Amino acid sequence: MQEQKTNRSVEAAYDDHVMPIWKSLNVPVKRASGCTLEDFEGNEYLDVFSGISVTNVGHGNEAVVEAATAQLEEFVHGCSYVHPSEPVADLAETIADITPANLEKSFFCNSGTEAVEGAIKLARKYTGSKEVIALEMGFHGRTLGSLALTGNKAYKQGMAPTINDVAHTAPPYAYRCPRCNGTRCGASCADELERVIGSHTSGDLAAVIVEPVMGEAGIIAPSEAWLKRVQEIAHNHGALLIADEVQTGYGRTGKLFASSHFDVEPDILTQAKGIANGLPLGAFTASKEIADAFEAGDHLSTFGGNPVACAAALATIDELQGGIVENARQNGEWLASKLETLEKDYDVVGETRGLGLMQGIELVEPGTTGPQNIAPRPDSELASAVSKHLREESNVVMGVGGYYKNVMRFQPPLTISRTQLGDAVEALQTALESVS
Ligand code: PMP
Repeated sequence: MQEQKTNRSVEAAYDDHVMPIWKSLNVPVKRASGCTLEDFEGNEYLDVFSGISVTNVGHGNEAVVEAATAQLEEFVHGCSYVHPSEPVADLAETIADITPANLEKSFFCNSGTEAVEGAIKLARKYTGSKEVIALEMGFHGRTLGSLALTGNKAYKQGMAPTINDVAHTAPPYAYRCPRCNGTRCGASCADELERVIGSHTSGDLAAVIVEPVMGEAGIIAPSEAWLKRVQEIAHNHGALLIADEVQTGYGRTGKLFASSHFDVEPDILTQAKGIANGLPLGAFTASKEIADAFEAGDHLSTFGGNPVACAAALATIDELQGGIVENARQNGEWLASKLETLEKDYDVVGETRGLGLMQGIELVEPGTTGPQNIAPRPDSELASAVSKHLREESNVVMGVGGYYKNVMRFQPPLTISRTQLGDAVEALQTALESVS
């Protein structure tokens, strides 16, 4: 008989046999439902981070569980690039319907970083060019190609060399932007891209990749003018615009895809995280013309487009379209207005910002607000102290992120109720009191 697991026994097994994990955010989980996580001792936590922004239609969503279970019994694996199956065919058709107009063909993989890698390969194959520009502070994954695009030394230390021919341009981080000084990064801030192309590339540009709302960088949304200008500059140089919607896709920002907030139709759109509510699945989608640059065998994945994951994705999309995206939009607006008051009430809150149920609270050492562009002290422990307090005193799991690791991240299941959101905001206030 198997021994009864405890939080400690699971953690001990991790210590001995799993490569290091991020202990500071850690809550062992035995089961989960809706927005609730339960550990091995029966303690319950309100989850406002969704397993890093993944379980958009709620943990254990019944329709998703049913669809995945039925597919599990029917057919699990044959390699989707050898044996066409119904869930893959249906999902590809559905994605063509729900993504911006001209995006019609998808490639399925297993994760966000793979979606990004594949999108870069496709952009190179289609354009015949090789260079890629990403945003400073941006995040696109940790495999070596995506890691090259990720604009943050913290993820790269000790891992170089990554791939060549990658440059970075300034993000639309108005709060610390020397160009617009905190107003809102518009087209003139985006013009930095032109300078980067001129100074840091040979002009042989395949793609510019951006997160329509930057997630790991600290929930940073551009203006429509900024994103449109980036696309215009990319196209002027013969490059494709890749929207990395791994984190923003599938309802997170109050629309199915964040690109739609800015009226931008990307040339390639990457997806993962929320697509199958926690089953491993990634995808990148492009127009027929661009997608057909790949010939059979150019790109393949043994597990990519697993039928069970695709069946779960179809059920997830169905659930999202049944009102959950709209819930995210309305509750996101409500949450944003609650969070805004924190800026006035707490010296440690520098800025609150976001779209839909993707909201960030940037913490700063008191006295370092005011004129922009002052980085938080690198040793700032504010966010980890707030996150620890939330978890230990209020049983709330909230994300921490940001380029400076000083941003609290509200990214709950999109099914969250207003009462639960209110509880989480109250817990956050108590935690902010404790560090103020
Ligand atoms: N792109 C973006 C925008 C992301 O937020 C992430 C994950 N945080 C990735 C890519 C990588 O996804 P994965 O961890 O599934 O490889």
